[in-house]
Amino acid sequence: MASALDISISSVERSRLPDMDMNNIPFGHYFTDHMLEVDYQDGKWQKPLIRPYQPLLMDPSTAALHYGQAIFEGIKAYKDGEGNPFIFRPHDNYRRFNISAERMCMPQVPEDLFIEGMRKLVGMDSAWIPQKDDFSLYIRPFMFSTDTYIGVKPSDTYKFMILLSPTGPYYAAPMRIYVEEFYVRAVPGGVGYVKTAGNYGAAMHATAEAKNQGYDQVLWTDATHHKYVQEIGTMNVFFIIGNRAITPDLNSGTILTGVTRDSVITMLDDEGIMVEERPISIEEIAHAYKAGTLKEVFGTGTAATVAPIKELRYKELIMEFKVEDWHYCPTIKSKLMAIRDGSAPDIHDWMFKV
Ligand SMILES: *Cc1c(COP(=O)(O)O)cnc(C)c1O
Repeated sequence: MASALDISISSVERSRLPDMDMNNIPFGHYFTDHMLEVDYQDGKWQKPLIRPYQPLLMDPSTAALHYGQAIFEGIKAYKDGEGNPFIFRPHDNYRRFNISAERMCMPQVPEDLFIEGMRKLVGMDSAWIPQKDDFSLYIRPFMFSTDTYIGVKPSDTYKFMILLSPTGPYYAAPMRIYVEEFYVRAVPGGVGYVKTAGNYGAAMHATAEAKNQGYDQVLWTDATHHKYVQEIGTMNVFFIIGNRAITPDLNSGTILTGVTRDSVITMLDDEGIMVEERPISIEEIAHAYKAGTLKEVFGTGTAATVAPIKELRYKELIMEFKVEDWHYCPTIKSKLMAIRDGSAPDIHDWMFKV
């Protein structure tokens, strides 16, 4: 389908790709040759621009820096065996982006700007998409308020951008997770279900304390009673207990609606295991561990994909797992990888051709 989107394009004179060591690309450090940029002014989106990746010139009074109207997305692009580029489920991220925009009083981004703009940018920089297990091109759409005015109100102007970052594996080793019972990430009525910048700033202190104790991340519990588990860092969480897979439901508005979560629910269902989306308490998890029925615990997210947890610490209880003996987590991880690299059929129509 031809794009009706009118983009003004200026290309780099020389790509930086030959200077890269593409075997050594930790998450989030490197960016491709180009970026997409478009401003919202006078109540409408202006003409989008693709230009060489470069710093932005900003007024110090830029509203986003003060009051946090800032949202983002995380998406990945892959290549199939023939080297054709594909993006994983970008329309789901598009819908979530506009849900975030609405909650943060920001304008909606039109679908062709988000999808066709991304497709054009990824197409231009497709040589940067790694073709190797656990490697991918991470796509970062984001929007922030740009009024140069220090007053607490929704901005009248915004900037929407897309960056591309080639990346290797996110968490190399199985994770150690600390069950957080003091700090909170999200409350009913709050912004836990949207990808807004402040959620991450607010979470850093708890994560830093857990890291000081040797853990990789925290497992958040509900703000009222610290009883029900929510999610981990930038991942949703799954528990295999007995012959069921359980993941917290989304009804309280305190959990990010993960696209990977949704994919994994579908794939677990394909595997024939019953999946329950419901509140799950840390007591239930500890009880299942002691009874020997807690088989697997893993996180799911675009950055980390499917990440096993080898240790879960709740108060004095240290729950340890033999990750090598697991079934579902490695099966889902490798099947998802196979769909993404084109070696397995895309039966759920998740791969969007660039
Ligand atoms: C992005 C994110 C996730 C995972 O969502 P995906 O769509 O699977 O990448 C989970 N939790 C939080 C807090 C997130 O920001």
